[in-house]
Amino acid sequence: MRDWLRSVVALELVVASGKGGAGKSTLASALALHLHREGWDVVVVDADATAPNQHLLLGASSWERVERVEGPGVAVIDQSRCDRCGKCLEACPFGAILKVGGRYVVNSVVCEGCMACALVCGARAISRARSEVGVVRVARTRYGFTLVSAELLPGRPNSGKLVAREREVASELASASTVVVVDSAPGIGCQVIASLAGADMALLVAEPTPAGLSDLRRVHRLTRHFMQPSALVINKSDISREVSREIARYAAEHGIDLVGEIPYDDAVVESVSAMRPVTEYRPESRAAEALSSIASRVEGILKDWRAWSEKHRPKRPEPYIPEIIRPRSE
Ligand code: SF4
Ligand code: SF4
Repeated sequence: MRDWLRSVVALELVVASGKGGAGKSTLASALALHLHREGWDVVVVDADATAPNQHLLLGASSWERVERVEGPGVAVIDQSRCDRCGKCLEACPFGAILKVGGRYVVNSVVCEGCMACALVCGARAISRARSEVGVVRVARTRYGFTLVSAELLPGRPNSGKLVAREREVASELASASTVVVVDSAPGIGCQVIASLAGADMALLVAEPTPAGLSDLRRVHRLTRHFMQPSALVINKSDISREVSREIARYAAEHGIDLVGEIPYDDAVVESVSAMRPVTEYRPESRAAEALSSIASRVEGILKDWRAWSEKHRPKRPEPYIPEIIRPRSE
């Protein structure tokens, strides 16, 4: 039945989109629910550590396990040793050192823990202190499968580290036949890179607007960089048939498997308010029917994994050169 036949690791599928509000969480929850009900072993990873929401949508009422995750630490200045030379302020690439009332102090919210300041401090007044970046948590959802979620502490960097730890925890909980559904953060930042790196496939979501197509291109460059086969869903496809066709053309040209379209439907908004996957809350709605059909298509991909992944995997890795977006000239 499941033909990837890998002996030690689960299959990781990342739901990603270049922008927020594109429908990732709706799609990820509907897919996880469908696979679970069809008998697959499923673990969901909510990889948006700045705004996690799958625990609300999937009904996780309590955490079975909470793990505090530490970052690289922050610099602290021993004022009794400091001779007020100011070299650390000049050396800090993040502007995390301030001069306050003649004393040099570290803004621990901004400090990235690189310790460049300690390298230039002749008085050896700077040391590293431990700092927590957030938590990784595990819960059983109301549907019976496992959710791994993270939450970044306010103002802390290293959200990508939290996501990497979430994926480690998910792989510890998974078996060789588990499908890990990763609901990634929006955009193409470090959390998304930490979600996609080393994953098996990307399920991209795009809205049919010029910005939606531009965001799709950006996130797709990342998946090509990681040599991931990609499938695509067009959400709210009826808000612009013209741009939907343009997105479908882009998919065809780049070997992305277009697995379905979801029409705009108020039932999705109602289900989010009710904190339920729309396929459970309003199964008769147009959006739920489209999502069920997409989930079945994705299940078909999993059953035919080898052939599908060979067909849709990029032939060579794309070097990832960050794009500088400039305003259009008139
Ligand atoms: S480099 Fe060291 S001695 Fe100089 S201001 Fe900074 S902490 Fe003080
Ligand atoms: S550790 Fe790095 S970021 Fe933090 S204060 Fe020192 S130089 Fe700045």
